[in-house]
Amino acid sequence: MRKIPLVSVELPVETYDLVAQVLRSGMLAQGPLVGELEELATAMAGSKHAIAVNNGTTALSLALEVLGVGPGDEVVTSPFTFAATLNAILGRGATAVFADIGEDFCCRPEAMSDAIGKRTKALLPVHLYGQPADMVQISALSERSGIPIVEDAAQSHGASAGGRSTGSFGLGCFSLYATKNLTTGEGGLVTTNDDALADRMRVLRNQGMRGRYEYEVPGHNYRLTDLQAAVGIPQFRRLKEIYAQRAANAAAITEGLDGIEGLILPGVAAGRSHAWHQYTIRITDTAKRTRKQFLEQMTAEGVGCGVYYPRVVYDYDCFREHPRVRTNDVPNARLAATQVVSLPVHPQLSKADTARIVSVVRKVLDA
Ligand SMILES: *Cc1c(COP(=O)(O)O)cnc(C)c1O
Repeated sequence: MRKIPLVSVELPVETYDLVAQVLRSGMLAQGPLVGELEELATAMAGSKHAIAVNNGTTALSLALEVLGVGPGDEVVTSPFTFAATLNAILGRGATAVFADIGEDFCCRPEAMSDAIGKRTKALLPVHLYGQPADMVQISALSERSGIPIVEDAAQSHGASAGGRSTGSFGLGCFSLYATKNLTTGEGGLVTTNDDALADRMRVLRNQGMRGRYEYEVPGHNYRLTDLQAAVGIPQFRRLKEIYAQRAANAAAITEGLDGIEGLILPGVAAGRSHAWHQYTIRITDTAKRTRKQFLEQMTAEGVGCGVYYPRVVYDYDCFREHPRVRTNDVPNARLAATQVVSLPVHPQLSKADTARIVSVVRKVLDA
């Protein structure tokens, strides 16, 4: 029987012509297509500006840099995320402080509030699996405290909270890595409504140059290329379709898996919309199989699945013993790390595929 992969990348047909066009033009580095990609990204995020960079980790790093985050400063973030979030904070020389997650797998606003101290310079919620954090509350917290928001929107292309798109609440950091909802292979974006910050990020991205050899600030080479933009543009144009397909797949799986003992299905919090980067279930103690058994049997049945993430982000020696990682009690994140399993939800799934995912999960959990 055909395997159903957890991840599948299929580019729109028009991608091939656009890439060939760039190759023929002989201008392979940052050019007009990067500008076009940025235009499309402002539409996605509902933001005034978008700055394309070479990857999502760079996007986070650039956002923190432009806010002046550096040594001695603290950034409040999620303990349940990919290492890139933490690496970006540590890379700036700042200290990471953690706010435990809620049912939505994202930082609880109350926990973020509790984690704020005198040195807190940024709030960095992660829109995990494509569902936005509670940005209405987190925005209110940002306004009350005067601390700016950097959104880790690496997984949340097109998702929204309180009627606003992710990436519009502060500095929005998107990844365009090969397995993300929209991809350029490697790539990233920072979105913002702030003219001055946008201008500064464009200068920092390009060696700190205003014009040719006019250095304004020590900068970086964080540029994306037109070759990469050509891969991404057709997907950005089809974002609505891609988004709707993922949502339809998620809805079909949820309907099929309703009511299984010990299984918690992913919900969408009121007022939020979900980009379904991952469809993540929880296998709890009362399920008929352990998570380990579940993963083994799903794989044997030919349905790909994965654990994002097997541990709290700092639960590795290199982070636990790091002087700028402030570990704390995060019981919700700890429990989630032992229970989560992501099932295929990508746009290439057919109706037969989602039906098979449902029947295999039911079979494995004996439900
Ligand atoms: C992918 C990802 C990143 C980093 O993006 P890259 O483009 O791989 O550098 C950051 N945060 C989260 C939550 C991610 O999933």
